[in-house]
Amino acid sequence: MLHEIAPHTFSNAYKPRRPADSDHALYFSIEGVLLSDGPSLPTFADLGGAQVYSDATYLFSMDETGFFLIDTLPPQHPDTLQMHTLQRMREVLPQQEVFAGTTAGQLYRWYRDTRYCGRCGMRTKLSETERAVVCACGYTCYPKIAPAIIVAVSDGKRLLMTRNTRSTYSRYALVAGFVEIGETFEQTVAREVMEEVGLRVKNIRYYKNQPWGVSDNVMIGFFADLDGDDTITLNDGELTEAVWFEPADIPQPVTRQSIAQELIETVRERLASAQTGAEAEEASCQPRLRCINIAAHNPTALAEFYRDALGAVTDHTKGDPDRVEVRFCYEDEVLVVLQQDARQHENEAPKRHEFELHVVDVDAEYDRLCGFGIEIERPPADLPWGFRYLRFVDPEGNGIDLVAKKPAD
Ligand SMILES: [Zn+2]
Repeated sequence: MLHEIAPHTFSNAYKPRRPADSDHALYFSIEGVLLSDGPSLPTFADLGGAQVYSDATYLFSMDETGFFLIDTLPPQHPDTLQMHTLQRMREVLPQQEVFAGTTAGQLYRWYRDTRYCGRCGMRTKLSETERAVVCACGYTCYPKIAPAIIVAVSDGKRLLMTRNTRSTYSRYALVAGFVEIGETFEQTVAREVMEEVGLRVKNIRYYKNQPWGVSDNVMIGFFADLDGDDTITLNDGELTEAVWFEPADIPQPVTRQSIAQELIETVRERLASAQTGAEAEEASCQPRLRCINIAAHNPTALAEFYRDALGAVTDHTKGDPDRVEVRFCYEDEVLVVLQQDARQHENEAPKRHEFELHVVDVDAEYDRLCGFGIEIERPPADLPWGFRYLRFVDPEGNGIDLVAKKPAD
């Protein structure tokens, strides 16, 4: 997402200072933003030196570099500097500069719109102690950050997507909307889905959030399940289209900057994975076949582990290295090992899967696993309802129970 700029660090602490030549000077107007050749965000050096801009407004820092707002340009600035739309800026700059430029644009609009006091109409000035504008009447105004929800609604097989071909953004998107007064985020989700497409939702689950300076928002992402009838009704005239998409038909995202694209990709993978399981089950006439899906960092290595440790037969499904099917010899049990979404690695602990496989002889399997040096979490033990089991841990940390019926005495 746009704000994920590691190894760079963003510091929004308000520590006003005078600019240096190496700091960035951001100039915005109705046309967009000033960029230097590169393209990149211009520095004061590009604009003839920081000494001319001693009244520049300090915004924030990234790494050791300050970002300042300037409200005038020198009458003769070099040809290497040109105005570009904010959309163009988001397309051409490296991610950390897009994030800085977008956040600076949010502050530019807020400073521009708060030059006069909303309470008494007098001219405001910048606070010396915090990022705020203050008025002699006592009014203090802080930057505008509007919370808005965005939700991926699924019926278990399909994802709901919407679009408005009259809007400047005419691609398929997710249901989204501003949090209204007196509402929790979850209530906003339910209300927006009902208002936009006439559907009821349940199991509203928080995902992640994202500062989205493009439109002065913080976006709060959710998943939700359809509750009841799937008939779409476009209610409030905001949308021109709403469609249920099967995973294979979900439109590919253009960029990876927004939380919307992460939500869409996450649901696409889940639905596709569920579909694979259902298809594998359908394809087999064996009523005992079970299919288990596991997301793995390294699907090939994990599949090889199962092959060596448990004598499973492995097969790269249709030549796709991210999707390995592992079939166990002793029972009709299929494990589909899928590539875990790479974007989930950084911030989330991998999900531990726990499942059971049916074997003929738990103790024989124990000897074999020990021979491979595999970590055993629970050595073979009897279960009171006539089964024997052990639990081992695979290289990705999943817990697997091997279970067998105890031989009759
Ligand atoms: Zn005032």
